Amino acid sequence: MKAVVYHDKGDIRLEEVTDPTIDQPTDAIVRLTASAICGTDLHFVRGSFAGMEPGTILGHEGVGIVEQVGPLVRNFRPGDRVVIGSTIACGYCSYCRAGYFAQCDNANPHGKRSGTAFFGGPGPTGPWNGLQAEKARIPYAHIGMVKIPDSVTDDQAILVSDIFPTGYFGADLADIHEGSTVAVFGCGPVGQFVIASARLMGAGRIIAVDHHPDRLKMAQQQGAEVVNFDNEGPVQTIVEMTGGIGVDRAIDAVGVDAEHAHHHAAASDNLRTALDSAAHAVEPEVTDAGPHAYTPGDAPGQALDWAVQALAKAGTLSIIGVYPPTQREFPIGEAMNKNLTIKMGNCNHRKYIPHLLDLIASGVIDPLKVLTKTEPMGSVIAAYEAFDARRPGWLKVELKPGAD
Ligand SMILES: [Zn+2]
Repeated sequence: MKAVVYHDKGDIRLEEVTDPTIDQPTDAIVRLTASAICGTDLHFVRGSFAGMEPGTILGHEGVGIVEQVGPLVRNFRPGDRVVIGSTIACGYCSYCRAGYFAQCDNANPHGKRSGTAFFGGPGPTGPWNGLQAEKARIPYAHIGMVKIPDSVTDDQAILVSDIFPTGYFGADLADIHEGSTVAVFGCGPVGQFVIASARLMGAGRIIAVDHHPDRLKMAQQQGAEVVNFDNEGPVQTIVEMTGGIGVDRAIDAVGVDAEHAHHHAAASDNLRTALDSAAHAVEPEVTDAGPHAYTPGDAPGQALDWAVQALAKAGTLSIIGVYPPTQREFPIGEAMNKNLTIKMGNCNHRKYIPHLLDLIASGVIDPLKVLTKTEPMGSVIAAYEAFDARRPGWLKVELKPGAD
């Protein structure tokens, strides 16, 4: 089968690999009909998250058809259409039973205290082969897969694999009530779903902070009040907008998923060559080469600083932006002296997926407004590059395995 395989920093290849097989009685084999590229994948490819092992299949978002189930998978049969949650969890340990699927005791082979396990990640997270492939082995399939209602399309369901649940998780952690005034820092795909989720939870006002005009436009279309930090100080503006009080709730949807003014330097010759030889299906224009913040290395916690400053006294901060375990900077003094509540973590995808599928099936929300590009697998390298360059319109990239 074909899969997107990590070889080295900046060197990923679409190549032929061996088909996966059932290894454990709780496994299933799924033939993928949709996958996607996530901002996190770019960190692995650039090397800003260390530890990727050569040979690992990338990707942690997937929708497909069950081909085969192990003897202990009793809730699925071949032919079922399923979405696969990004994080891997056993479904039977005390953490899974409490809904902390991202802190499962059993999914990470390095032990109970070794962190979140997920598809297509670095060695310390498993490594588990990912979902940018024609087929995948799904461990703990009884809990890792969720049946898709007939009325929900693949294009909708792929967004429930990772980014919609992550946005919903961010809003859930923020403890949003009817009438709450909420600020969302970062309006990428996850930030857009934080905004959508805050609306679902009854937020009174949602203030969206970013500097990409296309992202701010999308936030505004969702009903958010937008702040472009290229044009104005976001903290001062938010304080003015809220009568000098600040926001009740703030969500950091940025993390180190930050802008590289020099991201092209991160792509190696291999990736450049692969791109050059691929059809130039995307426009070459790059619009975000500005000198602004969110550059890992010199301002890794900019969004966190702004969030803490923009919060009202006794407000709540939710952190879902991804930070590496080595990150240590946080404005603890200011947060403490404002009596803030701080909640954070990796998304417990499986906790939210069934509910979000129900919301889509019932027409309460259509997540497709965030998905802007669909590419056949043959263009995957070019798609990675366009996504990495944050070209306008490349907010989220879905891949169609099996289509050339
Ligand atoms: Zn577990």
